Amino acid sequence: MPNDASGTPMTVTLLGTGTSTGVPVIGCDCVVCRSDDPRDTRTRCSCYIEVEDLGLLIDTGPDFREQALREGLERIDAVCYTHHHFDHIVGLDDLRPFFFRNRAPLPCYADPKTASVLRRNYDYIFGEDRYPGAPRVTLHDVDAPFRIHSRYGEAASVRVIPLELYHGDLMVYGYRVGRFAYLTDVSHIPEATFEQLDDLDVLVLDALRPESHPTHFSFDEAVAMAQQIGARQTYFIHMTHNVRHADADASLPADIHLAHDGLTVCVDG
Ligand SMILES: [Zn+2]
Ligand SMILES: [Zn+2]
Repeated sequence: MPNDASGTPMTVTLLGTGTSTGVPVIGCDCVVCRSDDPRDTRTRCSCYIEVEDLGLLIDTGPDFREQALREGLERIDAVCYTHHHFDHIVGLDDLRPFFFRNRAPLPCYADPKTASVLRRNYDYIFGEDRYPGAPRVTLHDVDAPFRIHSRYGEAASVRVIPLELYHGDLMVYGYRVGRFAYLTDVSHIPEATFEQLDDLDVLVLDALRPESHPTHFSFDEAVAMAQQIGARQTYFIHMTHNVRHADADASLPADIHLAHDGLTVCVDG
């Protein structure tokens, strides 16, 4: 039944929770990179949302293939891109296996700038002269809420709201589905976007590391934002190797948690 997913419970799986290098960092022997706590291993950020019968993916980073295998992802009805940086897009070609048993084109959504970068970088997928083995995706520039429909024949559909954020000077998208919002790669939330973040059950938010950074929230900034937004629960993502899971998680307020790869969160409708 078409709806805006308010009142519909959802399951959100954080496929990856690390910064652009991933953790461990190649060549680093710091305590976090050598940690044997599995929560200190962080692949690049991506998120899978199950709502009604639908599976929505946010971003396809360089670890997407491994993440999809690890979590046993079986269906994707749409992909929502946050921005064009490599750690959020370069797994795009690994969407191909999702066409082996279902040839229906897979819609991808992005802001116009991200869409133009995707068209340019992946002309064998999006161009006139498409490579026969390329994933069958359609790319939609969006600047307003849109609706995702099933690729697998069910009547289910869900409304998705793109949210304007700033990653340094770069405008990027966060996404809201029902009472869930995902805000990665953000250092500033405009006032108009704040108003779209009311009544959240679960918020996923960028929190790079304790020290400040020009294009990501630091821990203190992210805690302040989370408290201002006031979701029932907030989970931090996009952490560097400066962050040891056990220590950092213990230092956060009770309704704010450090996410880790593979964490699954239920969202109340
Ligand atoms: Zn990123
Ligand atoms: Zn390290």
